[in-house]
Amino acid sequence: MDFRFTPEEEGFRQEIRTFLHQELPPDWDYEPFEESDEEWRFSRAFVKKLAQKGWVAPAWPREYGGMAAPYMHQLIMAEEMAYHRAPLTPVAMAIGYLGPSIIVFGSDEQKRQHLPGITSGDVMWCQGYSEPNAGSDLASLQARAVKDGDDYVINGQKTWSSGAHRADWCFFLARTDPEAPKHKGISYFLVDMKTPGISVQPLINLADLHGFNDVYFDNVRLPRSGLLGEENRGWYVAMATLDFERSNVSGAAAAQRRFEELVAYCRENKTNGKPAIKEPTVRHKMSEMAIEIEVGRYISYRVASIQARGQIPNYEASIAKIYHSELTQRLARTGISVLGLYGQLHEDSKWAHLKGRLERAYLTTVGQTIAAGTSEVQRNIIATRGLGLPRD
Ligand SMILES: Cc1cc2nc3c(=O)[nH]c(=O)nc-3n(C[C@H](O)[C@H](O)[C@H](O)COP(=O)(O)OP(=O)(O)OC[C@H]3O[C@@H](n4cnc5c(N)ncnc54)[C@H](O)[C@@H]3O)c2cc1C
Repeated sequence: MDFRFTPEEEGFRQEIRTFLHQELPPDWDYEPFEESDEEWRFSRAFVKKLAQKGWVAPAWPREYGGMAAPYMHQLIMAEEMAYHRAPLTPVAMAIGYLGPSIIVFGSDEQKRQHLPGITSGDVMWCQGYSEPNAGSDLASLQARAVKDGDDYVINGQKTWSSGAHRADWCFFLARTDPEAPKHKGISYFLVDMKTPGISVQPLINLADLHGFNDVYFDNVRLPRSGLLGEENRGWYVAMATLDFERSNVSGAAAAQRRFEELVAYCRENKTNGKPAIKEPTVRHKMSEMAIEIEVGRYISYRVASIQARGQIPNYEASIAKIYHSELTQRLARTGISVLGLYGQLHEDSKWAHLKGRLERAYLTTVGQTIAAGTSEVQRNIIATRGLGLPRD
């Protein structure tokens, strides 16, 4: 098997790098969904520039603002964006999983209505799946959508909704048939966040950042055109969205950047009077991380090759999700231990090393093995759908 990219693909990669070097400050870093107002304005402007080049979703059809490029271009784009920490919050959910779900399940009218707003960088989406009593057991969700003439009337609460405080539209799940078995009475909706009756309350995370929110629906009227897929079959659309979400083809590229910074730090800083990189325990940790990142890259390529064939990865996406989310945690922990007590300093401290990024990464990566389904839930999926083991 030949894992090399073609000269044409390498040329595309180079073009993206040149663009990113021009557009991003040299030491640019940020946390997706948790950026300050200033970073957010920068993110929006950056995404508009990306859109002008047709690069928000290169593999999408031209009629929706893509370039009809081979899927490998999308992979290369995702890798470069992740490595350079490009601020993609305004389009991250839409390119990664809502857009692909609309392409598979949406009507022609829905595709025309929603996809161009994504590729132009004008419309940001958020996800309303989780509820206070429905996370891992998502099918227990209680938000209700009741038919009233041609409309649905929505009532309920969503929680942990990343970026809802900035989002223009929301894709969410609500129960349309409370009498049906729980997976079979759920529908999938698309709603404008400016619709009367929707309110958003901030939730502050472990790192003291505002990334996710509670979202309340109070008699929100939604026209029938807001239903994605068939009524009461939203569970199956939602699971496809999650498969796209968990695919994470760029996790290794993001980890590679953090790793390179750490190696450079170990070359420049001393432990016991010699460069830290010469310390055997540090060398072993770094070697371990290098191997893990390389393994992660090939897991990503496996998922990408499934997507390139036009299929939706399933248990493979769960493998990628577990691997990359746990890898970023291990990397942050390795970094903290290599930096010693400096590692615990917040970015505001003048004594912080590597701008305090590892302390922040240490805290923010905790949520990564919970978001989009916990590691335990992914392991259950791999056991049942991947290995064919019986359900408990
Ligand atoms: C950073 C972050 C961003 C998020 N963004 C969004 C978002 O944008 N939109 C959205 O809808 N949601 C979002 N979420 C919510 C996320 O999807 C849920 O937190 C997640 O599904 C877990 O649900 P829960 O928090 O209710 O935990 P619970 O389901 O209560 O789980 C508690 C513990 O029990 C374990 N557990 C539960 N069931 C099983 C089982 N069957 N087998 C083994 N172990 C089990 C879990 O692994 C976990 O350790 C986000 C979460 C985080 C942390």
